[in-house]
Amino acid sequence: MPKVGDFWESYRTGEFVLTIDGTESPGVTKVSGLSEGEIDTIEQPDGGSAHVYKIAATKIKYDTLTIERYVDGSPEDKRFKDWFQQTFSLNSPTQGNSGVRKNGMIVKKHNGVPVLSGSDKEIYMSTLSTPAGKRELELTLPVGYSDENGQVHRTVVLRKMTGKEEAILADRRNQRNGGRLVTELLHSCIVRMSDLPQNGTSTVAGMYSADRNYLLIKLRSITFGSELQAGYSCPTCSERLQVVEDLDELPVRSLADGESPDDIVIELEDGYTDRDGQVHTALTMRLPTGADEEAVASQMRQNASLGKNALLARCMKSLGDVPKHRLEAIGPRILADLTMSDRRLIDRALNQSAPGIDLTREIECPNCGHVFKTTLDMTHFLVLE
Ligand SMILES: [Zn+2]
Repeated sequence: MPKVGDFWESYRTGEFVLTIDGTESPGVTKVSGLSEGEIDTIEQPDGGSAHVYKIAATKIKYDTLTIERYVDGSPEDKRFKDWFQQTFSLNSPTQGNSGVRKNGMIVKKHNGVPVLSGSDKEIYMSTLSTPAGKRELELTLPVGYSDENGQVHRTVVLRKMTGKEEAILADRRNQRNGGRLVTELLHSCIVRMSDLPQNGTSTVAGMYSADRNYLLIKLRSITFGSELQAGYSCPTCSERLQVVEDLDELPVRSLADGESPDDIVIELEDGYTDRDGQVHTALTMRLPTGADEEAVASQMRQNASLGKNALLARCMKSLGDVPKHRLEAIGPRILADLTMSDRRLIDRALNQSAPGIDLTREIECPNCGHVFKTTLDMTHFLVLE
């Protein structure tokens, strides 16, 4: 192949390069399969507090990415092969057929000089970005998991999501049950939990929601980076605000060593009036777990308020002198009967004492200056941008 000027001919006929995570490929002749997937929404209760947030899960079904190069016998051929191998980690044992796709873009060149510039003309791959950093991360759970002997385990080693988790996210059964999705995802990505043996998904399901949500946020952060595109609406002037949140900056409330999560005791103002006209006001609740999330998923899908009642009912330990079996049988109905002010008391008590990541955000509207409280927008939580 004759060399033309400073460039190999094939480089010129290739005319564009693929840039992945800032590394330029040797010239390629054709790239296809850069389609975007769809977004599906999964509703997921936020453990300790009474909020329901949405985590979007799919947008991970890509077309096959095809990269072609006219092999011309120049040194560029070997460079291309090496680049391809490296970029897509073809021999990586843990990532299936090819490595996780990275942030990429096609740059059209003429004689080695980019001729298309500006974001509107660059073509971005809809990809999983893989931020630089460790594949695994050791974390301390905000609450901790108690095994059957009452021993508390708080050290978890989490690894980045891979192609294996794409299948979990895409599974329709998981998409119908946010709690189950989180259980499957975490179970798959937890490398080690203290010195516990790996015993199916029951450990993760038995963990407190506060710990699960903490791990979920860390999982997102190590896999896709800590920046999250969030959107909020000002309740006063309806201005739409786009904010980039940093997941690693969210405050975490952790229990001290040896501290166990307290029952949450709430003195209701109006209380619950039973069939005999007796009023019960002393309410004791426990923190919800993954098993609770999974159990209320169908109600949650039907109606967020129903789902919330079902979740809180499962976490009621006692209410005045109401017998335990009554509480279990009609818990959701009792909660539905409580006055708005009592329900607000419960919300506040749960929010105040809930350990884990604080998902409440205080936003100042740049348009009207109003400062409002909301929960972290997680619509793009597992969406690849
Ligand atoms: Zn406003």
